[in-house]
Amino acid sequence: MQAPAPFARLRVPFNDLGRAARQEHDAIAGVLARVARSGWYVLGEELRRFEAAFAAYVGVAHAVGVGNGTDAIELALRALRIGPGSDVVTVANAGMYATTAIRRTGARPVYADVAVPSMNLDVHALEAALTPSTAAVIVTHLYGRLADAEAIASVCAARGVPLVEDCAQAHGARRGGRMAGAFGTLACFSFYPTKNLGALGDAGAVLTGDGALAARLRALRQYGWGDKYEVREPGGVNSRLDEVQAAVLAHRLAALDARNARRRAIARRYATSLRHPAIAVPAAGGDDDVVHLYVVRCAQRDALRAHLAACGIGSDVHYPVPDHLQPAYPLSPPPRLPVTERLAREVLSLPCFPDLDDAEVDGVIDACHAWRAAA
Ligand SMILES: *Cc1c(COP(=O)(O)O)cnc(C)c1O
Repeated sequence: MQAPAPFARLRVPFNDLGRAARQEHDAIAGVLARVARSGWYVLGEELRRFEAAFAAYVGVAHAVGVGNGTDAIELALRALRIGPGSDVVTVANAGMYATTAIRRTGARPVYADVAVPSMNLDVHALEAALTPSTAAVIVTHLYGRLADAEAIASVCAARGVPLVEDCAQAHGARRGGRMAGAFGTLACFSFYPTKNLGALGDAGAVLTGDGALAARLRALRQYGWGDKYEVREPGGVNSRLDEVQAAVLAHRLAALDARNARRRAIARRYATSLRHPAIAVPAAGGDDDVVHLYVVRCAQRDALRAHLAACGIGSDVHYPVPDHLQPAYPLSPPPRLPVTERLAREVLSLPCFPDLDDAEVDGVIDACHAWRAAA
């Protein structure tokens, strides 16, 4: 297949973390040198500073830095004393991270379908999925869009089930003066490099307003220690956020809102200008959407993706295999999640990161307009 001539030489990467890194090079070099000179590299002053700053930013009393976002979810569940014999209700369209964490604790994942167009947990499906064995609910604010967190929190409160937020794609999303991470009993963040707030490697955090849960998390992330070498908390692991990453995150936190605003501007540009009969484009969101990913839907997704690739435009699929259909964990019979399954066939993520320029966004839009769907 031949690429349409006007777009043949345009190259738009799906993401390019190097652009931001080159801009902030001197500042980051200073941060790295400071930590290197300090002689203290794990669980020190840099982490305490970042935990305090991030907790204040989200508006929650305690933040506990951990090794990554998946560990954050696992440790949040362990802090709630969830393990074998418990069910945890979550969605199946969010990349398998929550399922991985649930399985690590020995609990059983139970899936509820999502709603369109939000692509987030459907409150009615959640109500139907709750049983006396439900020990927690994990709500993911997928693609940067705050889920119906108020309604979900009130359903959980009415049933006495703790709510855990997966905020790995939603740093800074807010509604009604409340930030993603301030709706649940516990909230989990990843600072993987591609996230809206990203480190130079792996990092994560659990936030909670509950001081007893925070103390348990501080023990769980370091072998279960109460005092040094004395294991008071069962189920402990080694999952710490190191000083270099904490210092980088504290530095980058200052730019988070501005970079989220740039993501929203890119989404608005797509939402206003991208018009194609075979491509469903999400409406531009407000402060409740930090556009971690800009995800369109298309029944001929793979053909559209191939066309974009031929035009030099990167795209990706988040996520092609729903959790309940992963080959490593066959479920029989598999639960029926028709919306989740349809979305897995239709979703396509277009380039959307703060360092993308308007001409590149327009290039993506033009390339989409040049695509002809099969009849
Ligand atoms: C990235 C991500 C995670 C896991 O974070 P890691 O730091 O990669 O372990 C969890 N949930 C969601 C929704 C994510 O996007």
